[in-house]
Amino acid sequence: MTDDVVPRPGPRGPDPDCELCAADRFTHWYSEDDHCWVADCEACSVPMVVWNDHGTEPSEAEIEHMMRSLSSAADARFGPGRWKIDRTMRQVPEHFHAHARDDQWWSQRLTRPLSLYSGVGGERVEHRMGQQH
Ligand SMILES: [Zn+2]
Ligand SMILES: [Zn+2]
Repeated sequence: MTDDVVPRPGPRGPDPDCELCAADRFTHWYSEDDHCWVADCEACSVPMVVWNDHGTEPSEAEIEHMMRSLSSAADARFGPGRWKIDRTMRQVPEHFHAHARDDQWWSQRLTRPLSLYSGVGGERVEHRMGQQH
């Protein structure tokens, strides 16, 4: 693969121990641009927007941009009005990110099949339970 993500250095630069800076591509990626990327969270299986910079204080304009990117991913996944933005940063408090959660995310987080990375913005493909490959 030649398209490994190289984090854009922010004011503090990428943190080698930060999983969001690493930006590993395991799950479905909805979009990416110069400010952020949107992919399914590996823990919650819902869309999550992640700032390209390691830090907690993006500008208002960047936050607006990120919420727009997250919204289009969540609308496509759940349908408009069927999800809410959650900006609480539980697992990685040092790196700005936000989840789009539908009503069922909590009850289904362990049983929902995880999506697979299949290129940015492509069709969303899920692991099938009990099936090889
Ligand atoms: Zn980071
Ligand atoms: Zn999550």
